[in-house]
Amino acid sequence: MKQKLLSWLIKIGLFCWVLLAIALFPPFHALQPLSTVNGLPPMGQSAAAALIPTRPNDPAATQDLISNLAQTTANYTPREEIALADPTNYGDRYLTDVQGQPVYNDFIVVIHETVGSARSAINLFQTPHPRDEDQVSYHTLITRDGTVVYIVPPEKRAFGAGNSVFDGPNGPEAVLTNPDFPASVNNFAYHVSLETPADGRGNGPQHSGYTEAQYQSLAWLLARTDVPDRRITTHRVVDRSGSRIDPRTFDSQLFLNLLHRYPSRAGLAYNF
Ligand SMILES: [Zn+2]
Repeated sequence: MKQKLLSWLIKIGLFCWVLLAIALFPPFHALQPLSTVNGLPPMGQSAAAALIPTRPNDPAATQDLISNLAQTTANYTPREEIALADPTNYGDRYLTDVQGQPVYNDFIVVIHETVGSARSAINLFQTPHPRDEDQVSYHTLITRDGTVVYIVPPEKRAFGAGNSVFDGPNGPEAVLTNPDFPASVNNFAYHVSLETPADGRGNGPQHSGYTEAQYQSLAWLLARTDVPDRRITTHRVVDRSGSRIDPRTFDSQLFLNLLHRYPSRAGLAYNF
């Protein structure tokens, strides 16, 4: 009887060890989410305010544009809003890829344009999309009047560039987080999009460009990150689907000149 009890105890003990080993073995804790993030801009307003849908293009913003343009970069402060995306349109950033291998990519910034209006982009992000292939979002959008609209929290993974690779100095960087889709930069990307002018709604190769307020706000936003110039890129550059050419008509030199006026970003110029 005593022997039988001992044998059961040994069996239970072994079973527990096997469970523990499985739990600790990397492939069984694949896709560990990241909980906090450093070096990316925080969302500008309180979480409570975040739950109230906002209207980025209200007429009062026109007055802000006029006053913003009158300011110098040194004291430039854009209007900020939060219009949180529906949670189906973003996910966790992971510390491991789908195979459970740790990933160590530093953040990159990917610049986009909306093609449609800011309002229609935000409506799209706030619409629940249960199917993976329909899910889309940016972290932040900059409207024509320079308003910075926070859409996805920086510690989360916005779905801004499916099938994409960043060619860094140490080789190509992309992370596979879903076996049904190509690897992408989304796991380590901060996606910022500029609202396209009305004459750029179609698929033409160029349009009339972005406002000075948009360049000012983009520089202000990215001056608040730790992302070095060499890791600021565009959707066109990282895209591997062959279908993305945004942001069209983007003046990277103007943007970098504005960015480098911030003391934290002064230094060697880098073109992308
Ligand atoms: Zn894009």
